[in-house]
Amino acid sequence: MTESEFDVVVIGAGSTGTAVARDCAIRGLKTILLERDDIASATVGTCAGMISSGLKYSSEPEIMALCSREVVHLNRIARHIIMKNPILAPLLDLSDAASDSSYVDSYSEHAEERDVPSMLFLTPDASLEIEPSLHQDIIASVYYEEFFLDPFRLCLLQALDAKRHGAKVRTYCEVIDIETDPEHGVKGIVFYDRASGVKDRVTTRFIVNATGPWAHKIAKQADVGLAIRLNKGAHVIFDRRIVNVGITVKAIDGRWIYLFPHENTTLLGTTALDTWEDPDTLVASFDEIEYLLQSIETVLPSIRKARIIRTMSGVRPLVPEWKIPEGKVTRGYQIIDHESTDGLKGLISFTGGKLVMCRDMAEAVTDLICKKIGLEVACTTHEKPLPGNEDDVDVLALSKEYGISLHALERMRARRGTEMLKVLELTKEHPQWKTTICTCEPVIEAEIRYAIREEFPKTLNDLRRRLRLGTGPCQGTFCTYKAAAILSEELDLGGDDFLVDILDFRSERWKGIRPSMRGEQLAQEELAQGMYACVANLDQSDVDYDLKPWEEGL
Ligand SMILES: Cc1cc2nc3c(=O)[nH]c(=O)nc-3n(C[C@H](O)[C@H](O)[C@H](O)COP(=O)(O)OP(=O)(O)OC[C@H]3O[C@@H](n4cnc5c(N)ncnc54)[C@H](O)[C@@H]3O)c2cc1C
Repeated sequence: MTESEFDVVVIGAGSTGTAVARDCAIRGLKTILLERDDIASATVGTCAGMISSGLKYSSEPEIMALCSREVVHLNRIARHIIMKNPILAPLLDLSDAASDSSYVDSYSEHAEERDVPSMLFLTPDASLEIEPSLHQDIIASVYYEEFFLDPFRLCLLQALDAKRHGAKVRTYCEVIDIETDPEHGVKGIVFYDRASGVKDRVTTRFIVNATGPWAHKIAKQADVGLAIRLNKGAHVIFDRRIVNVGITVKAIDGRWIYLFPHENTTLLGTTALDTWEDPDTLVASFDEIEYLLQSIETVLPSIRKARIIRTMSGVRPLVPEWKIPEGKVTRGYQIIDHESTDGLKGLISFTGGKLVMCRDMAEAVTDLICKKIGLEVACTTHEKPLPGNEDDVDVLALSKEYGISLHALERMRARRGTEMLKVLELTKEHPQWKTTICTCEPVIEAEIRYAIREEFPKTLNDLRRRLRLGTGPCQGTFCTYKAAAILSEELDLGGDDFLVDILDFRSERWKGIRPSMRGEQLAQEELAQGMYACVANLDQSDVDYDLKPWEEGL
């Protein structure tokens, strides 16, 4: 095979696409992963990162069993990036518990498999001891535990593992055409490299369309149809961990919503609205934010005193079931083999699914491809550790050895497990790289340099996804310039690129900040604007913002 011939092209580097590329590469298929933006830059990056027991889907026992299995697999292959969150569902009256208690049994049925206790009922006193800010009138609460991970890291680790097994990973490469012929089906794919501005083409036997809410658009490039139900979800993000445990409650419409401590922040989510909007331009609405705040306020009366820093929205690419509310649509996934549905050999699409089941989705599609070409190689993705999960790390000893704060090193460990040893190695030759660049997270200079060299970021936004840099209370106000300077040095960027990148980062943050602006956030935003405009003169900048190659052409 030549450089540009592949067995499989995977389109989309969200949770699904990176998992597929990993499985295909491990099984020896020559694979390329094409992503029009950055890894995990779309739906998966807007999700809560819950690798759930499937509790919300207790009417689908097979989905609950699948979720439970995948929690076990992920705890094996990605244990270094997984956290367990205790959760309380406070009850204000008995109807909250009595309307449907089947979920208690469904959850507990698989609890042992996931190594968590069965669901428990707690007294008001016990509940308030765990979370004193709960409403004082609660009559009891339900206690359970769920696992969470950083979705950006999971996707990155899957992509890195795919690369280690021989796959090519190309970010900022947008697929613009699928070439087919009636006899052979798919032949090749044309893509536009948004960083270099060059069009390219590769040939392939199979295309896996893992583009989430854009899947129907990719199908159209091959002249086939694909039905999908798009459903918008929004989160409100608070500046710190404002609760000791996760809280779940029923909203005004009877849907369960949640407030989860997430990394160094807290997430309040989520809404669920059928949508026909462009997934690229979505922002949270005033109604969505009020829906979430009012709902959680019923059990957490002080919620409005907490500081919201931003919102984030994404679109669930659901299976296209009609005439039922969103909550009743299956959370399972469909694999559409367009050879069976449209007579087009080689194109396979996904609809539905969730982050928690991405590995299983990948196994199913890779099994299908292997079967079609008569390759008998068993799936091993549920056993092989992801990069960084090879061993335990003694963070305390490392803190003493390198003279770096325990907090900074613990956060680094949670991002990269044993890979942190390679980051620390860099500081032996460059002790000055121990400097903290992002104080909210925190992130030291050596980790930024390591991420730039090993994890293919091209912009500040990509660095944010790798390191959570700029996601804390100051939203990048104090680290953007420093990180941009390091990025420029490492990637040899020119002056305009440097400023365009900072403006890009700001406008991306602004998308989420603007809808949430109220209360204290207004003053904070004034400060941030002041820093950029007055200190850095960005409002006077004569940068030609249209200079970026990916905004030209196509
Ligand atoms: C608000 C919200 C909360 C959620 N919470 C959870 C949760 O807690 N747990 C859970 O398990 N699931 C959750 N989900 C569901 C989960 O996020 C999604 O099911 C899953 O992340 C979808 O991943 P994906 O890879 O299929 O799609 P995406 O992440 O959208 O990836 C598709 C990729 O395709 C790329 N692409 C599109 N067009 C092209 C093209 N022409 N060329 C190249 N690339 C292209 C996009 O840029 C994108 O990166 C949530 C979803 C939402 C919206």
